[in-house]
Amino acid sequence: MSMMSKILILTSEENPALLSAASLLGQDITVYIIENNHTAENITQEIIKLAPEYTHILAPANTWGKNLLPRIAACLDCSMISDVIEIKSENTFIRPIYAGNALETVKSLDKIKLLSIRTTAFPHETQTKINPKIIKINPENNFSKTKFMNYNLTPLTRPELSHAKIIVSGGRGLQSAENFKLLEQLADKLHAAIGASRAAVDAGFVPNDYQVGQTGKIVAPNLYIAIGISGAIQHIAGIKDSKVIVAINKDPDAPIFQIADYGLVGDLFELIPEIIRLLDE
Ligand code: FAD
Repeated sequence: MSMMSKILILTSEENPALLSAASLLGQDITVYIIENNHTAENITQEIIKLAPEYTHILAPANTWGKNLLPRIAACLDCSMISDVIEIKSENTFIRPIYAGNALETVKSLDKIKLLSIRTTAFPHETQTKINPKIIKINPENNFSKTKFMNYNLTPLTRPELSHAKIIVSGGRGLQSAENFKLLEQLADKLHAAIGASRAAVDAGFVPNDYQVGQTGKIVAPNLYIAIGISGAIQHIAGIKDSKVIVAINKDPDAPIFQIADYGLVGDLFELIPEIIRLLDE
């Protein structure tokens, strides 16, 4: 931890894991909470004016941060270090590469370090007491080439995937959007979020934002139940930090069983109703 570091966190919502990560770099932390209704272009204009004051700029490695941070980095002519999962020192960071099959240690010589933080890798409670300056900012709409029109927010009746303690996730084995209702019944019993493989999303069974994996959401629940999912490396990349993985698949040789803590070999259309019945008892 350095007395010299001055850290700026950019986020669209309060995020304790970002604070935990920042606290490993120093104590002088400012958090900018920027509402969703601003384009990355407008936010960037505002941030690059203030950036030289800071040694580190952090944002979450979610779609919001992924949209914003590369633009800021390019405007500042600095490198961006994405998907940071460990902070070794104020200039050395660890990030996964090749879909999480290798870890890379990166040392940055840039004056301002721009880090997108994989929030599932940092604790949601910090050991040390942190007193960040929290500022809500409202960037001006002065970038003329793009304009914010509106956004459609999907109303959530279940926990949000990235923060959920239990996730019930379905794959191509579910066969249809209609059959995902079976997963919903199980998720309701467990107060779980619903996730999906890319194959299930591509087939239109569920919306895109359900996708878990390398090109979807990275999750780390206490319990991840993979149903009718084969266990491709791109899917595993998104779930391997889960504490307990349960797999249900009719193929005993499905790769998901190699990483699952518990496996049930059988037809999901028989096993899920049975599990729901047992949970009812
Ligand atoms: P399948 O591989 O078809 O598996 C279906 C499984 O269901 C099978 O194992 C089968 O035995 C089982 N099954 C079928 N019927 C039943 C039944 N009745 N009862 C029980 N089991 C049954 N994928 C992701 O998930 N997330 C990503 O982020 C992602 N990113 C990718 C990025 C790139 C660049 C690429 C190339 C691919 C990516 N993929 C991603 C796709 C990935 O490679 C796989 O194609 C995908 O994960 C397969 O989804 P699935 O397991 O649902 O389907």
